[in-house]
Amino acid sequence: MKKTALILGGGGFIGGHLAKRLKEEGYWVRIVDIKPKHEFWNHKDICNDYVSGDLRNKQIVSAAFRLEKHPKVDDVPYEYSLLKQPFTVVDSFDEVYQLAADMGGAGYIFTGENDANVMHNSAMINLNTVLEASHTGVGRIFYSSSACMYPEHNQLDPNNPNCEESSAYPADPDSEYGWEKLFSERLFEAFSRNYNLDIRVARFHNIFGPQGTYTGGKEKAPAAMCRKAAEVGLDESIEVWGDGQQTRSFLYIDDCIEAILRFMRQDSFKGPVNIGSEEKVTINELAKLALKVADKDKRSYIKNIEGQEFIDKYGFECPIGVRGRNSDNTLYKEKMGWVPIQALSVGIAKTFEWINKQVN
Ligand code: NAD
Repeated sequence: MKKTALILGGGGFIGGHLAKRLKEEGYWVRIVDIKPKHEFWNHKDICNDYVSGDLRNKQIVSAAFRLEKHPKVDDVPYEYSLLKQPFTVVDSFDEVYQLAADMGGAGYIFTGENDANVMHNSAMINLNTVLEASHTGVGRIFYSSSACMYPEHNQLDPNNPNCEESSAYPADPDSEYGWEKLFSERLFEAFSRNYNLDIRVARFHNIFGPQGTYTGGKEKAPAAMCRKAAEVGLDESIEVWGDGQQTRSFLYIDDCIEAILRFMRQDSFKGPVNIGSEEKVTINELAKLALKVADKDKRSYIKNIEGQEFIDKYGFECPIGVRGRNSDNTLYKEKMGWVPIQALSVGIAKTFEWINKQVN
């Protein structure tokens, strides 16, 4: 019998890559996402069943977790619509990955304009999910938290940020997105404690790669830099928000998927644990790297925009997030005996190649 996986938010960036990997490994995969279809993948390549539904809706979540009994799960036809079937729990999923969230890059998370939606939408999804996972008795469930839950006061020095897992409390995230992630970590932990839900909780640090959002306002820094580098003309500038000296680390998507699966496939450690890279760079260095990969670094240049100039142009304060952030992989390495090692430059080259094809 095939193993079964349910990927909530599988119509998104990380979920799409994860679904593809699991399908290639022989899993029977169901995706549930509010999007009618995955923007960048053919459904047949990444899943057996794609359900378009809003996970804030309890009935959709309830239906999503139900697997009808089939003689062999392999026989469930592609595009099998669970919503038309009677909802009886017959089999529960072996693995569930909860990746659905209302999220985006700095321009979405840090302006304050989306705070209520971000908190409400993601919390609703997580509240529905833990309850249904407990009712249906799933094998194991993964929750994707974020480095944005770490306290701001430990991330003021760009050269020396502290994102060790144990530094989470006293809590002081710098965004409502981070507060919701922290709440939901605790929610998953509470259901684990009281209802024996077998959880794995990871805190992602800036995951990037091909087949992700690269335009439209929800894109994150690496995709935005690659897009700008692809579009910029020679002797023109690419815009970088802030003074560009804020630091971050970025993890390539293949390493992220490997890290998720290694974490899910061990029995003793539930997390929370960081999944990220320790290769810290300034945002200007990231932008320069994108220009270099585009072979435009000799002529095109960076223009930092902040303060009043930013407000005059965009009508709100420059949203840059914490001053410094880097993954601390000590705990992951100790527990899993492995850490991601792919260089940022390699990942950016692959991402640029894909984004360049989309825009040019
Ligand atoms: P993404 O936005 O590409 O994917 C999230 C998916 O959730 C989207 O496809 C979206 O349509 C879906 N979704 C949102 N609201 C929904 C709803 N009400 N019902 C059904 N589906 C809904 O994001 P991603 O980069 O793939 O991130 C996946 C998870 O990892 C998210 O929870 C995110 O907060 C977390 N995370 C990501 C990063 C990163 O760098 N990408 C960093 C930290 C944490």
